[in-house]
Amino acid sequence: MKLETLCIHGAKDNRNTTGAVTVPIYQTATYAHPAVGESTGYDYSRVGNPTREALERLMTKLENGNDTFAFATGMAAISALMELFVPDDHIIASDNLYGGSVRLFENISRKNGLVIDYVNTCDINLLKEKINTKTKAVFVETPTNPMMRVTDIAAVRECIADDVLLIVDNTFLTPYFQRPISLGANIVVHSGTKYLGGHNDTLAGFLVVDRADIAERLHFIRKTTGACLSPFDSFLVIRGIKTLPLRMEKSQASSFVVADWLLHHSKVKAVFYPGLPNHSDFAVSKKQASGFGSILSFEVDNEQTAKQILERVKTIMYAESLGGVESLMTYPVLQTHSDISEETRNALGIHDRLLRLSVGIESTDDIIADLEQSFS
Ligand SMILES: *Cc1c(COP(=O)(O)O)cnc(C)c1O
Repeated sequence: MKLETLCIHGAKDNRNTTGAVTVPIYQTATYAHPAVGESTGYDYSRVGNPTREALERLMTKLENGNDTFAFATGMAAISALMELFVPDDHIIASDNLYGGSVRLFENISRKNGLVIDYVNTCDINLLKEKINTKTKAVFVETPTNPMMRVTDIAAVRECIADDVLLIVDNTFLTPYFQRPISLGANIVVHSGTKYLGGHNDTLAGFLVVDRADIAERLHFIRKTTGACLSPFDSFLVIRGIKTLPLRMEKSQASSFVVADWLLHHSKVKAVFYPGLPNHSDFAVSKKQASGFGSILSFEVDNEQTAKQILERVKTIMYAESLGGVESLMTYPVLQTHSDISEETRNALGIHDRLLRLSVGIESTDDIIADLEQSFS
């Protein structure tokens, strides 16, 4: 089946005896046992729930993996992921990650004895220099937030040993545009809160793995630490994924129009969108992904203009998050990246003139009209 079809039908299983067209919400905490020492296959919903499993089955198919674990949030997924490691393990991470991942690594993982090194993974030579005998994983986010830098996933795979885990946060492109396991990743991370859910109405997170041995360890970690996705939220994400291809196409098409409008505005100094041929990572983006997504950042002439735009937008909402049907604009310096040191922020180009826009699926005319009035 093609991916568009899987998005609609991939969650179904053959236990359905009612003919229901959608996966039901098994809103149950526990399950009755048929006899002593026997089980229906379900004992307790932290360990297993049919609605959540339907979503996990769907994600495994979409990402071409071996198994999937759904969590209450993206951060719950990444927290569970870090439990795969023990003190002294060395992890190399992209230097331009989602702020919450950096907060977790710096305040929790480090305290637990993990050694984390950050490097610009877009430069494979810099990455190679960081690898040592204790390196257990490379954690890559591509494209990055908010500068939209792209890491060549297959090139990272080539330069690390087979037993070093390659972990890719695929939140921005989703399996509709990018399938990291096919490029050599072992674990794919998602904030399902973003495009997969797609409607800014629920939080969710995923780990999709390529191997049964990693799946077994993660199953144990999740049932032990407990941050599983609820049946109702699982239902919402299954429903969201049905329209993922349509939403990804529409918001990407609008992103090109918006990027072009911004490029021609006198108050805009730079636009960061990997679909623009002059973006530094346009070529590698084209090579490994079938689309560029719908997040773009832009630099305006001064802080005053940036604040004015945030306060005046109406159709576009000034709010954190991304990937939903609503267009959202955020101020990385004060929001997503406020926990990151000023020095690192400056090095990445995240300053008080930078705005990030997640383009939704409203009429492009209305998005442009809103930008026009907010700039003027
Ligand atoms: C939002 C986000 C996360 C965290 O996910 P939550 O669902 O908010 O916990 C992780 N990675 C990326 C790239 C994100 O955008």
